[in-house]
Amino acid sequence: MPGRQHSHGSVDAVVIGGGFYGSAIAIYLAKQRGFQNILLIERESALLTRASYNNQARVHNGYHYPRSFTTAYRSRINLPKFVRDWPDAVKSDFTKLYAIARRNSKVTARQFQRFCHEIGAKLEPADLALRQLFEPRLIEDVFLVEEYAFDAKRLASWAEEELLESGVQVVLGTSVTAISRGEDTTLKVTSSSNDGNEETISCRYVFNCTYSGLNQFGGDFPGTRTSLKQEITEMALMQVPPLMQGLGVTVMDGPFFSMMPFPARGLHTLSHVRYTPHLHWQDQRDIDPYQKLNDYYRETRVDRMVRDVGRYMPAVLNARYVESLFEVKTILVKNEGDDGRPILFEKHPELLGCYSVLGGKIDNIYDVLEKLDAEFIK
Ligand SMILES: Cc1cc2nc3c(=O)[nH]c(=O)nc-3n(C[C@H](O)[C@H](O)[C@H](O)COP(=O)(O)OP(=O)(O)OC[C@H]3O[C@@H](n4cnc5c(N)ncnc54)[C@H](O)[C@@H]3O)c2cc1C
Repeated sequence: MPGRQHSHGSVDAVVIGGGFYGSAIAIYLAKQRGFQNILLIERESALLTRASYNNQARVHNGYHYPRSFTTAYRSRINLPKFVRDWPDAVKSDFTKLYAIARRNSKVTARQFQRFCHEIGAKLEPADLALRQLFEPRLIEDVFLVEEYAFDAKRLASWAEEELLESGVQVVLGTSVTAISRGEDTTLKVTSSSNDGNEETISCRYVFNCTYSGLNQFGGDFPGTRTSLKQEITEMALMQVPPLMQGLGVTVMDGPFFSMMPFPARGLHTLSHVRYTPHLHWQDQRDIDPYQKLNDYYRETRVDRMVRDVGRYMPAVLNARYVESLFEVKTILVKNEGDDGRPILFEKHPELLGCYSVLGGKIDNIYDVLEKLDAEFIK
């Protein structure tokens, strides 16, 4: 990966944030839109190390969203495209189960079946051996579904190769601190490297793909109009017992849990609706989410997760805890209740040429690229 060897002066576009979204957008601008001179700036020392790595790795296929038809429906459209475009990063060779809790679930098994039928998602009754993994007093029904997992390491390798091939200049270990209006139609981006070098770059376009950091800029950056909620989350990485190795499980729809393959490590993530979110706050300019996570005392809640999950699936009691992934999760305030995951795509009229993008989930990249297609019709 090319490091910073010289001052970048003036470029066509600066992409801020080298997660999946920033990388995919930079590649799209170079390959599909003919941008000549693109600079991608990432604060970490490698690409796709933040939310794009520290997540549940689920390629959604709708099942997870019985309370948000639009998100479920978009997932159904985007999953096949994601599988087509990143076949090497998609793990599909495991058995995926959705189980419906008898109590405290916002859906019944019957309602879940109807919902899957409505979104055209495949659903079959699980066989007896799989059902027997669950405590029947607590689980109403168990279904076999089609849902996959992605390997974030492979997505990172893809990004590195494609960025290089597309001629995008990648600058690592550098944070953008301000976005301002320049002369005429230009924008000015100020960055500061980890070793204290400051630089101002002028450009025509800025793509702010910083996920949790979306509002942490000085200069003329006005902030997003959409309100964001920040959450410190914990997912436990587990070595599961042989019985569960080829399995992914999600229990719906309330204060329950998921155990998904995490292909990048050959382990499973365990997440629990009650214990995974540690603390949350309303996003604002003077609370740097990355700093907040750094300062946070990371006391694992894996014991509480396992204790509760073991009531539903006793086999989990034999899983071995490896470590936890802590990350800041950023969602739109308006989706707190329905769990929907639409994209945020904002143009800032005060800063013409500056866009802020938040994907919500990995397959939403297609919704973002559709918006960009409409912006840059030639
Ligand atoms: C706990 C959790 C579970 C999730 N589970 C799933 C799931 O199962 N399936 C799914 O599809 N999605 C899931 N998601 C959502 C998914 O992770 C995100 O939608 C996706 O990773 C966002 O990609 P991104 O590129 O926008 O963010 P990131 O990967 O976080 O990239 C943003 C980058 O910007 C950099 N940055 C920030 N500020 C600056 C700055 N000022 N200057 C330079 N660089 C900066 C950061 O270092 C980071 O690398 C989950 C998220 C979390 C947190």
